[in-house]
Amino acid sequence: MKIDLTPLLSGEVDEIAIDYPLTIEGSFGGVAFPDPVRVLGTVTDKAGYTALKAKLHFRYDTVCDRCLRPVSVSGALEFSRTVALSGSLQNEDRDEYLIAENRMLDPDGVFTEEILLNLPMKHLCREDCKGLCQKCGKDLNEGPCTCAAKEIDPRLAGLEKLLKNKG
Ligand SMILES: [Zn+2]
Ligand SMILES: [Zn+2]
Repeated sequence: MKIDLTPLLSGEVDEIAIDYPLTIEGSFGGVAFPDPVRVLGTVTDKAGYTALKAKLHFRYDTVCDRCLRPVSVSGALEFSRTVALSGSLQNEDRDEYLIAENRMLDPDGVFTEEILLNLPMKHLCREDCKGLCQKCGKDLNEGPCTCAAKEIDPRLAGLEKLLKNKG
């Protein structure tokens, strides 16, 4: 959402409260956001120092890395950044700031980026998920498959052959 900083910069108010839903569309490596992220925060101006602080409440759907069952994750992320007006900065400083163009701040891209960058590398349906059998694909959380039993040590297989030939 675009936030008009004019009342803040003109000294009319010293804080702008923000509370709005941010929709994140698309899928990011199997992660999708069915509900909008709730952005809750403030933009403050103290002696010409403008800062945005927000808490991003999100929920997303993905799958367990081991067994592919659906996993839903809820969480919140703290966000804090200094706001600078466009034109007031050297190019090399731009990454450290949120830039307001024409006194308008549009932080949604940065919020989305922040959430995606902080996604965990791994998602498990539970800590001790046993995953799928690599051979038959059975979900081993539902019980063992028969692959392990069928597998015979190649050395024993040789012995078995030897014994059969004898008989
Ligand atoms: Zn799992
Ligand atoms: Zn198996």
